[in-house]
Amino acid sequence: RPTQRLLVVANRLPVSATRKGDDWHLELSAGGLVSALLGVKQNFETRWIGWAGVNVPDEHGQQTLAAALAENGCFPVWLDDDTVDQYYNGYCNNVLWPLFHYIGLPQEDRLAATRSLQTQFKAYKVANEMFARAVYSQYQEGDVVWCHDYHLMFLPKFLKDMNSQMKVGWFLHTPFPSSEIYRTLPLRSELLKAVLTADLIGFHTYDYARHFVSACTRILGVEGTPEGVEDQGKLTRVAAFPIGIDPQRFIEALETDVVKSHIQELRARFAGRKVMLGVDRLDMIKGIPQKLLAFEKFLEENIDWRDKVILVQIAVPTRTDVYEYQRLTSQVHEIVGRINGRFGTLTTVPIHHLDRSLAFHELCAVYAITDVALVTSLRDGMNLVSYEFVACQTQKKGVLILSEFAGAAQSLGAGAILVNPWNVSDVAMSIEDALTMKEAERNERHRHNFMHVTTHTAQAWADTFVSELNDTIVEAELRT
Ligand code: UDP
Repeated sequence: RPTQRLLVVANRLPVSATRKGDDWHLELSAGGLVSALLGVKQNFETRWIGWAGVNVPDEHGQQTLAAALAENGCFPVWLDDDTVDQYYNGYCNNVLWPLFHYIGLPQEDRLAATRSLQTQFKAYKVANEMFARAVYSQYQEGDVVWCHDYHLMFLPKFLKDMNSQMKVGWFLHTPFPSSEIYRTLPLRSELLKAVLTADLIGFHTYDYARHFVSACTRILGVEGTPEGVEDQGKLTRVAAFPIGIDPQRFIEALETDVVKSHIQELRARFAGRKVMLGVDRLDMIKGIPQKLLAFEKFLEENIDWRDKVILVQIAVPTRTDVYEYQRLTSQVHEIVGRINGRFGTLTTVPIHHLDRSLAFHELCAVYAITDVALVTSLRDGMNLVSYEFVACQTQKKGVLILSEFAGAAQSLGAGAILVNPWNVSDVAMSIEDALTMKEAERNERHRHNFMHVTTHTAQAWADTFVSELNDTIVEAELRT
């Protein structure tokens, strides 16, 4: 049979475009979704539909960029600056994103936000319609359309309106909050109804799926079943599909000369000290202040450890133009400064903090030399950093301290030390346990995690979702 075509729709295309006169420079981003879908390429012909991240107002520019993108299997949606502001910065990032991560805005801010909400919601729908048209222009009968994330909750509905036979799946990469939180969202029903038009809805964990089904039953009055959500005989399948990474990419990188020489450099640099590591976007969901306070408490209570451990914190800048993020950055800097001032010596400081991203080979090296990784997310859809750390630890077999509020806690829970990041004393104690853990226990925990990370790969995730979507449609046809 001919290979099935897969149309992957996400807000951002997997390439970033920059203009150089008449030419376009395209850079492939190596994010989780991209490597995940490289795996399904073998069985599917994949096309990407999304925004290229640039405003291209002129027709000539649109034509040349579209041509360059098409060579890479990418097809653009043109969003102008105003739409990006209302739909993307506004409704997606200021409304849905904080709500899905249980971030409470201050009362006044939320009140002020309600004024612009209708306009932003309108822009959100308009943008989703533009995505739908872009999909439709590529669509051929039999194609599978896979919509990604909270940016595109209306997309399944617009697609089904255009063609009710279209096979449509939707996957959420963030948590889905408890229905008690979700129901505070104005226009909560419209969004749920739109998503429910999809054939298959996927989440990273059972908890998120369960929250979604509860939100549907309580708000819409539809029926929740073990299979999903049923409305007047029509079933929308809802299930958990935990994403993974491409572990081979990391394992192979560790064998390259460039990574090996980085590893040697870092080992020499941190000789005589245990290395703890945090790798996070500098975002409130990552609980970086909580992590630093726990580390401070650990140093306070464990005098002997003060010159024997270093915390390397890679804090990748994100949304730097937004006030809350600027405030978080200052707050983190203040805490780092205080701790280094308190516990530093003439020659060393306990926290090595970087406000930047690392190149892939640097990241692999630092993962490999780490003794204890510390993930303290307050909410996190999955957290791939914890998977990547495990993939790079075949030699060291270091310990993962992992927040129970990261989706990854539900898959790496047996191998990691799980913590509540809000309980600073508990995290401080876990740091001590991790640093002093006996080799046999470390080996056993690592074996557990490594087995999971190397079997539950990104490729397997994408394969499972798409075959489940195909099966769901076959079953629905059999029922009618
Ligand atoms: N990452 C990166 N450069 C860095 C630090 C991190 O590319 O300097 C990557 C990291 O390899 C991981 C991703 O950023 O794949 C972070 O994913 P995660 O799921 O942990 O969190 P998110 O940022 O998506 O909330």
